[in-house]
Amino acid sequence: MKAECSIVKDLLPLYVEDMVSRETAKHIEEHIKGCNKCRKELADLKEGAALSTVEKESLPRADAAKPFKKMMRRVNRQFYSLAYAALIFLIFLGFGWTAGNNLMYNSLIMPIVGIFGYYVFKWRAVYKVPALLLVIDLAIFAFQLVELGFADTLMWTMLYAIFVLIGVAIAFLLHYALKKEEHK
Ligand SMILES: [Zn+2]
Repeated sequence: MKAECSIVKDLLPLYVEDMVSRETAKHIEEHIKGCNKCRKELADLKEGAALSTVEKESLPRADAAKPFKKMMRRVNRQFYSLAYAALIFLIFLGFGWTAGNNLMYNSLIMPIVGIFGYYVFKWRAVYKVPALLLVIDLAIFAFQLVELGFADTLMWTMLYAIFVLIGVAIAFLLHYALKKEEHK
């Protein structure tokens, strides 16, 4: 059963994008009926796809739109990688500034980190971005890239996490408001 789950898990992204054969789709649906874990995985994927399907939904479901859809998907994926890279860069930059004169910029940088985090992780940003923040800050501390003690590192990380969560909340509200606008 476990081996099947990993196969299904690999196929789910294609399944969500309607890119598997009918037989495969049937097989996946059958498996999902009996497997909570994969059903949840599918639900998460669909939720994740919701943000990027805005363009898709507004197009007619004609075959002519397919190359365009494919391109949009590729652009989206590139945006994801960019947002992810920006996220990590901004955490490095922000924490690097903690001991310096640019400290105040973090009240702006950290919410932006949260917004990028929401774009990359969706609601999971709530715990994934603070975790990422902690890992990076501890790495910076371990390599002594900033003149901060261990206790200070933890304290600033916690404070920044609050700002990050504010950013996530802003992104969530924006996303929600835009969605509502769509349905009008
Ligand atoms: Zn499964």
